[in-house]
Formats: sequence, C-alpha cells, structure tokens
Amino acid sequence: MPCTHKIFPRKNLGLYLFSRLCTLRPSDTPVGPLMTTKTKRCSCCEQTLPIAEFGKNMQTPDGLSYYCRKCAYGKQQAYRKANPEAARAARRRYLDKLKERNRARAESPR
Ligand SMILES: [Zn+2]
Repeated sequence: MPCTHKIFPRKNLGLYLFSRLCTLRPSDTPVGPLMTTKTKRCSCCEQTLPIAEFGKNMQTPDGLSYYCRKCAYGKQQAYRKANPEAARAARRRYLDKLKERNRARAESPR
C-alpha cells in the first residue's frame, strides 16, 4: 500500500494528484518497498509478478494497475486498433498538453 491517504479527484485528464501528506512523509518512513519485494497477480494473464511489472494507477486501491505492463500494453494496442479515431484524439490531447506545459515553462523560467 503506497499511500493510504485520500487521493484528490482527478481534475485534468491523465493527471493524478497525490495527497500532500504523502509528499510530507517523515524521513524515517521507508520509501520504496513498493518496487522491490512485493508481488501482485495480473487480472489479465493471471500470473503473479513483481509489482515493478505493474504500472501506476491511483484509482485502484493499491495504486497499481490491475494489469501487468505486458497486458496493459496489449490492451492499449488492441484499443488503438479498434478505435483509431479515439486513439488519435487522445494522442493529440496529450501532445497539446505537453506543448502547453512547455510553453508555460518557457514563459516563466525559474
Ligand atoms: Zn498480465
């Protein structure tokens, strides 16, 4: 369990916001067991894999994707094939977001 604090609702598409409490965790709290020893069963291929094999998804109870990276990738590919329009639109939105972010950074350098 990476974080038991309440996750803020998703405001911008694809952007997950972490609880502030988590970013302010005391330094003696172990950080990182997440990527090492634990395993999780993939809901798709039903293999038990190290959780490093799972992507992040803050909407699930444990903060990890239901599917292993391979299955998630396969599902994404299948979705793109089945919905080329939606996939293109999603990519465009993603690139627009990046562009917007880069522009904002260029305009207000630290
Ligand atoms: Zn899998």
